Amino acid sequence: MKSVINTIFETKLAELKDKITTLSTSVRLTIVTVGDDPASKVYVRNKIRLFDELGLECQHITLAEATTVQADLDLLAENADHPILFQLPLPNGLVAPDLPATVDVDGFGSETLGQLVLGQNLVLPCTVQATIDIISAHCGEHNFAGLKVAVVGRSNIVGKPLAIELINRQSTVASFNSRSDLAAVDWNKFDVIVVATGAHGILDNSQFIEGQLIIDVGINRVDGKLVGDIRHHDGILSAAAITPVPGGVGRLTCLHVLGNAVKLMEHSQN
Ligand code: NDP
Repeated sequence: MKSVINTIFETKLAELKDKITTLSTSVRLTIVTVGDDPASKVYVRNKIRLFDELGLECQHITLAEATTVQADLDLLAENADHPILFQLPLPNGLVAPDLPATVDVDGFGSETLGQLVLGQNLVLPCTVQATIDIISAHCGEHNFAGLKVAVVGRSNIVGKPLAIELINRQSTVASFNSRSDLAAVDWNKFDVIVVATGAHGILDNSQFIEGQLIIDVGINRVDGKLVGDIRHHDGILSAAAITPVPGGVGRLTCLHVLGNAVKLMEHSQN
């Protein structure tokens, strides 16, 4: 799957570079972080690097954990006139402001998600777009209708919007959560299984059959190593195609921060 991910990344990046040259305004992004969560630092660095490589402006506002209050975040959101994101998780009970769809580059806000339900969204949450890209590349972009997809996890930023996007595309979708009896599920009846739980080992690579596509969204640190939600048994090769962690969904998710910024800038000039 690594080569599939690489091809998607390179193709999308080339498309974005072309698109950027057609815009009359330059693409900008503001990233707001509070405190110094180590994982967030890595994610933010990757986003900034991508913008830097393309010569685009990415402003990084770092706020101190001890002194930042909700009103500071809300003010930044109110004044945003271009794409902005609040890097999660936020400490001390702070919540990311509910951004208007026109600047909501992460696609987590209630306006964007409401638009998604109606099939009128400007952007998809970046991880959802990454997952859709992988399904498109593997199953064919016109083959979503009738595709049988299991989505494990129902968070507001991954599982739920993904399930809605798949429904919009006429896939047959089954949604699972922590109260589902996963042991009783016949996984082999699905064409695609997306696992986004943060629970490493929830499923394992021996459970899947040839022809299936397994998208491992999870990012977990086990014994100092980054691993997904799928456990890979030593010496057992799965017959199914399984996306790698790291270097799978996460790599494309980062690219779609840029992709969404481009879409929002394009929308703002129309
Ligand atoms: P959340 O913690 O917000 O949601 C986890 C979801 O998984 C919940 O719906 C929960 O169910 C469900 N779940 C947890 N344990 C089980 C279980 N044992 N069986 C079935 N369902 C379970 O996580 P996120 O959606 O934000 O992230 C999920 C994972 O994806 C994390 O590892 C995160 O780091 C990773 N991630 C990766 C990204 C990438 O770019 N690759 C981007 C975003 C996230 P319930 O609702 O019942 O509690």
